[in-house]
Amino acid sequence: MVALGGNAILQPGQRGSYAEQRHNVDVTAAQLADLVAAGHELVLTHGNGPQVGNLLLQNEEAKATVEPMPLDVLGAMTQGMIGYMFQQSLTNELRARGIQRPVVSLVTQVEVDVEDPAFNDPTKPIGPFYPEEEAAAIAAERGYIMQPDSGRGWRRVVPSPQPGRVVEQEVVSGLLSQGAIIIAAGGGGVPVRTAEDGALTGVEAVIDKDRAAAALARAVGADMLMILTDVPNVKLHYGTPNEVSLGEVSAEQMASYVAEKHFAAGSMGPKVTSCLDFVRQTGKQAIITALNQAVAAAAGE
Ligand code: ADP
Ligand code: MG
Repeated sequence: MVALGGNAILQPGQRGSYAEQRHNVDVTAAQLADLVAAGHELVLTHGNGPQVGNLLLQNEEAKATVEPMPLDVLGAMTQGMIGYMFQQSLTNELRARGIQRPVVSLVTQVEVDVEDPAFNDPTKPIGPFYPEEEAAAIAAERGYIMQPDSGRGWRRVVPSPQPGRVVEQEVVSGLLSQGAIIIAAGGGGVPVRTAEDGALTGVEAVIDKDRAAAALARAVGADMLMILTDVPNVKLHYGTPNEVSLGEVSAEQMASYVAEKHFAAGSMGPKVTSCLDFVRQTGKQAIITALNQAVAAAAGE
């Protein structure tokens, strides 16, 4: 189970043109194809922050002419968009290596619990920045919760609940057993709640993609959870002169580093805790590294 960070699709400073995203996806797909060529089965997931942010902006700018869509629908749209690009690129990269494997992306729903305390405390900023007055007007008009974000303006914030059951998990397992490579739970999956009669409804929230990756990894019985980001190593004392790169670490040791608060809440924290949960619940291995180290890391190097 491989989870890709935002950089695999859009680099900092890029505006997000199709050409930019296509190029990044192609470079990433080449790395993933090397993993498959090394003999691994692969389930892939990815972030969608910049893409869903751009869609929110498009919806906002065009609202006088085209009715805006809710966040769960926009999440599904980005799964389709990013999934399509990876499924095409990866197919091409595999073909170039003489490997014929079906690659498919699934619009994936992930159950959340309406009792999750996250719903009383929305923390995840999404979409465009607004001046304070406009933010107040949007909050009044649509009932969004708007908060200041790092002095850059006001943004909508939504809850970030824990992932529960991946609704399509049996389909993912079924496709895996047929030799397919599956792209699933993109952007953390579309959050849904299940009514008592079993009916599903979309929820306007964002599930952390690293947590969703760990949930799906458990569900499909993955041998390894690999979270690929833009740094080769997890570090202690990150960003200080005492910075130390970690290599192989036991779950117990990692838990004590978490307790010592070495990992930032909005970035490395969820990766480390997701890996820790996966390792504790399965007894298998988890890896956090940079995209271009994936093959070496999977080989234990
Ligand atoms: P992604 O898009 O892959 O989820 P994030 O920006 O959320 O990327 O997380 C990766 C970033 O976490 C790194 O670029 C680094 O700046 C930051 N980071 C925070 N704490 C640490 C740490 N202890 N060790 C390494 N990187 C860290
Ligand atoms: Mg992140």
